[in-house]
Amino acid sequence: MTLLDKVCIVTGAASGIGNAIARRYARDGGKVVIADLNIDAANAAAAEINAAHPDQAMAVAMDVTSEEQVNAGIEKVIGAWGKIDVLVSNAGIQIVHPVEDFPFNEWKKMLAIHLDGAFLTTKACIPHMYTAGSGSIIYMGSVHSKEASPLKSAYVTAKHGLLGLSRVIAKEGAKHGVRSNVICPGFVRTPLVDKQIPEQARDLGISEEEVVNRVMLGQTVDQEFTTVDDIAEVAFLFAAFESNALTGQSLIASHGWFME
Ligand code: NAD
Repeated sequence: MTLLDKVCIVTGAASGIGNAIARRYARDGGKVVIADLNIDAANAAAAEINAAHPDQAMAVAMDVTSEEQVNAGIEKVIGAWGKIDVLVSNAGIQIVHPVEDFPFNEWKKMLAIHLDGAFLTTKACIPHMYTAGSGSIIYMGSVHSKEASPLKSAYVTAKHGLLGLSRVIAKEGAKHGVRSNVICPGFVRTPLVDKQIPEQARDLGISEEEVVNRVMLGQTVDQEFTTVDDIAEVAFLFAAFESNALTGQSLIASHGWFME
């Protein structure tokens, strides 16, 4: 299995999980596109990869909720590198509130980033994959694609939705050689999770230590966070897998928090 010379777009790759995936792909010879809302951080991430792997990374400014920006970003990649082999739809945020207090605009923002973003990037990339007769699309789900937690109505709804989208893409894409998968991480210590700890402590009326040890790690087998490198390995497996055997599947990586 190899990603040598494959063009891999990773959204939200300026930080956290997406950044680890981009670095993992580049280490295997992939050409990676850091597509992110935060262009300064995306440029810095691309520069860091290029320092270790010359000419293997480019940064693209992209708000995944904007059809115009997504299409412009994908055209920029095609102009530079001529093809798209792998899309990792990873950009995401977290907003927590009890449902009765969830502001409607924040609900819509959550669904837009996670679901519109997945749809728009898929729609823009997949014609290029169909032309080539191959491709891999990976959606960043969550244990919350399979399980629910209080305060996370929008996130759980969006992450469950990605399973459905991925299964449709697996069926539509098959005759064009395009595969589709969802990765479902447990809690990974990134800025997205760090932000939630005080918010959940406030909303649940418990200490931050309890949020970490009980809410986030209480059900794991080893009281350990899943790491960005754990998820990057799964993302490598799905992207580089050589047959259709895994298409349509989702894989939970959560240190035993959720098993199926
Ligand atoms: P992060 O905050 O470290 O990184 C998210 C990145 O997405 C940032 O670089 C941010 O600028 C970018 N982004 C945000 N909105 C965007 C937009 N509209 N368009 C383009 N880019 C945008 O977060 P992370 O923890 O690495 O999360 C990455 C993905 O993994 C998310 O989809 C998240 O839901 C999922 N996930 C995270 C965890 C976890 O515990 N950290 C667990 C399960 C799933």
